[in-house]
Amino acid sequence: MATKISLRILIDEEKNKVLFAQAGKDFMDIVLSFLTFPLATIAKLVNTESNIEKVRFGSISTLYESVANLGEQQFWTPACKKMLLQPRNSMEEYCQNLNHNIHVAEDLKFLICDDWHCSRQSSGGLLTTFSNLKCSCGKFLSQAISLADKQKIDNEGFVAEAVTFSIADDLSVKPDSFQNFICQPMNLLGLEDFNSIKFMDVNLTRGEILDLLKCSLISESPLTDMFLLKKPSFENIKPIGVLDFHIGTIEENQGKKVEVKLVLRKSTNKILFAFGDADFTDFILSFLTFPLGGVEHMLKGNSCGSSIDNLYKSILELDSDTYLKSSDLKDKLVKPKLAHQFKLRNQLFPFDEMPDPNIFCVTRHNRRRTGFHAYLTALEDPYIDSKALCVPLKFLEPQSSTGEAYGDCGGRGFMKSLAFYMVTDDLVVTPCTSVSVISILSKLGIPSSDLEERIITIGNKEGLSILKASLTSSSALTNGLAPFLKVKVETLLKVKDENISN
Ligand SMILES: [Zn+2]
Repeated sequence: MATKISLRILIDEEKNKVLFAQAGKDFMDIVLSFLTFPLATIAKLVNTESNIEKVRFGSISTLYESVANLGEQQFWTPACKKMLLQPRNSMEEYCQNLNHNIHVAEDLKFLICDDWHCSRQSSGGLLTTFSNLKCSCGKFLSQAISLADKQKIDNEGFVAEAVTFSIADDLSVKPDSFQNFICQPMNLLGLEDFNSIKFMDVNLTRGEILDLLKCSLISESPLTDMFLLKKPSFENIKPIGVLDFHIGTIEENQGKKVEVKLVLRKSTNKILFAFGDADFTDFILSFLTFPLGGVEHMLKGNSCGSSIDNLYKSILELDSDTYLKSSDLKDKLVKPKLAHQFKLRNQLFPFDEMPDPNIFCVTRHNRRRTGFHAYLTALEDPYIDSKALCVPLKFLEPQSSTGEAYGDCGGRGFMKSLAFYMVTDDLVVTPCTSVSVISILSKLGIPSSDLEERIITIGNKEGLSILKASLTSSSALTNGLAPFLKVKVETLLKVKDENISN
């Protein structure tokens, strides 16, 4: 039974506004865990019921749903769809025992080849954490095996014990001190006297943590929204203009680029579709696997103009030696990596993944020599005797149907490379044929004279801009590519207004 997470909030009753909250380790750990969630996890969580209605997470929600609707035959292997819909959190160990952890990951299952001899080869056998994949010998990797000495992370969570934080309504966080208390409410929050102030002690439920996640993605005052208004205050969201799309100082376009064909509607300046090969589609799909903190890192803390940006920037400034469990945790939170096996060789962004855990398989015959006992170990095992055999295992590339080992450069992508795909403005991905394109255009009822085709090359800069737009807007392609297509600003603002009123 989870213990309660208590929070003291300070309210300005006159303005019906939360000034700030005072919280300890348990609440801060939960809030920081948001930065470790892959975008697919967030899309799934905010689409569940809590005290606050379900919310849409920009175009990421439609992207997630479109993957769920794609047939398995579009993907290299059955593992690909699972990697996109249930990507692993690379910081799972830190989150799994948190009070009211809102996303409990499925236990990681290790599978080896059905043929014992395959896992006893001195050159090393194969290992996978995904079901229904084949070994290089042609048999399935479906024999479950346990990891004997899983490295335990001593103290769960991120924040040091016995530290208190003050969290502003916009989720900027400061260690709580008397000095901050005097400076913050009186001056920064424009408070003249204490008469309208009220303290409220609350015990948070799991549902309220979900409320907080929802509000923090789309609002600049999530604490007021969840505690006082009980709904996100959409009216606070600023319309997106081109200027808001400045994506920080990023390196000049270099490395991988993909070419896509865009179909624009001239009368509205909106991009209707992008057509591309599997590389482009994999690039869009890979958004689902990125941890939120990693996206913030790439966009230099200017991701959604929401309070998550403020949270992220506060952590950048936090003295990790004093306020976090260990000094390396700050780096892990502000630059979270992809989980191991999730890197793509053709990725446009330089996203690192967790290192290979270097797993060995220990096998020995049972007493009657009719079978084997086996277990995995990630550490030097002191109990191996002369009768046991210890061989290194290699991870199978989850996208390989022929038993190829996973290399340092990552996997080959998700979608079969022979096909072409269509991606709509809100990132719905579908395989495309000339017949399907014509039928969609005729359904839309747009005269061909109103359509225009353009070819654009997408590199790091264009890619980041689409990613940024996808977090807040249901027109990820139009808004993300506008700075590169020179679409009129007025049109963009109009597009955003329509999104809000919907
Ligand atoms: Zn095998």
